[in-house]
Amino acid sequence: MVTYTRRELLGMVGAAGAALGAGRKQPNILYMMTDDHASHAISAYGSRINHTPHIDRIAEGGVRFTNCFCTNSICTPSRAAILTGQYSHRNGVYTLNDRLDPNRNHVAKELQKAGYQTAMIGKWHLASDPTGFDYWNILPGQGVYYDPVFIEGGTKKQYQGYCTDLIGDFTLDWLKRRDPNKPFFVMSHHKAPHRPWQPAPKYADLFRDQTIPEPDNLYDHYEGRARSVADVKMRVGENMNRTDLKTDIPPGLKGDALRKWAYQLYIKDYLRCIQSVDDNVGRMLDYLETERLASDTIVIYTSDQGFFLGDHGWFDKRVMYEEALRMPFLMRYPAAIRPKSLNGDIALNIDFAPTFLDYAGAKPPAEMQGRSFRANVEGHTPKDWRKAMYYRYWMHNDGDHHVPAHYGIRTERWKLIYYYGRPLGMRGANPPDTQPEWELFDMRNDPREMKNLYSDPRHASVVRDLKAQLEKLQKEVGDTPA
Ligand code: CA
Repeated sequence: MVTYTRRELLGMVGAAGAALGAGRKQPNILYMMTDDHASHAISAYGSRINHTPHIDRIAEGGVRFTNCFCTNSICTPSRAAILTGQYSHRNGVYTLNDRLDPNRNHVAKELQKAGYQTAMIGKWHLASDPTGFDYWNILPGQGVYYDPVFIEGGTKKQYQGYCTDLIGDFTLDWLKRRDPNKPFFVMSHHKAPHRPWQPAPKYADLFRDQTIPEPDNLYDHYEGRARSVADVKMRVGENMNRTDLKTDIPPGLKGDALRKWAYQLYIKDYLRCIQSVDDNVGRMLDYLETERLASDTIVIYTSDQGFFLGDHGWFDKRVMYEEALRMPFLMRYPAAIRPKSLNGDIALNIDFAPTFLDYAGAKPPAEMQGRSFRANVEGHTPKDWRKAMYYRYWMHNDGDHHVPAHYGIRTERWKLIYYYGRPLGMRGANPPDTQPEWELFDMRNDPREMKNLYSDPRHASVVRDLKAQLEKLQKEVGDTPA
């Protein structure tokens, strides 16, 4: 239960009233994004395993998306898609090894043109230096959790402290010294809760004496699934190292027993990292309130993709299964979005940029492939809104996680995935030892994606229809088949 202060409530009511009038001013945009934070570890999304009171404040005061999906579920490509509003095959950032061309247009450049001051703070991870930001202070590459180095406008400096808190500090510092006469767009990107899940010292003992509930498919043994899925090396315990677990695996421990033991170590550290994120989200919201900016500011909380929290026995992301595909997406803007609203439309990471430009009163450039969901969040979903989404993971068998390249389609009811197993000349490890394989899931009757229906003759017409839809969608977005 979230309670607003009197001042916050008055601010919201005032802004809602002002929204009815003409010429509303350009809203500020505070975009907070974490790295690998799955929505099922957010209490507003019904988490059974943790409580995130500050992230929940955004949901309480705004809209919660239940079907926001990532177009390529891995860090660097998703970040590029968010900035450019384009799929990987269009923006050229397919894998972790690709770099964002600094000359490429993106949302911050367009917002600058629209009169915004822009800042990028925290994890960037796009190999080139940021462009389109008046101020930037980023982690080199992945960055580290403890006493991290930051690169501020090109100058490296090491800081004492915990990465998540420092990113909070730097974001607040910038907000305090910004030009108050211009709207702001700040991207505050946390490293947490990315592997190796190292918590702040103050949370080292959180959950110590508790047993965190296990997901119902922690002991998935992949019967009936594609062979390449059964071979994925993202198994909790089995595919973790000493840095992940912070201790040695007891000799002789293996199979389901190893998974059970390692799950507790893994999930507790993951959730401890999130607790610091939640604290810092609270600091940002408090600042907006104290400065009377809450009503004029669009606040976003999201993550670059989802994550497997022991689901299917896995950690990590990449595979087009729900836990990795789904992004948490919470958006608060009291002037236009009703508190506690829900949106189930299929939204994509490439839609964020056009949406922000829409709110800024700027026209998204033609090369952006996403679509503004402003009308959707305001309760008026366009009749021709998409009914299916296209996904493609390109980083074929990186030699570590062993996830084959694949693409697929997700509709409200179905998901069809094609593991094509060929790297198409992309960089990364070769050579493919996987044969092309398909999976079909009934998302209504099997939301945990345990039963592959692809070879079931009763679903032959569904498969035929989905293949046709997939081919059409792939062509529409400008991609080519494997
Ligand atoms: Ca990530």
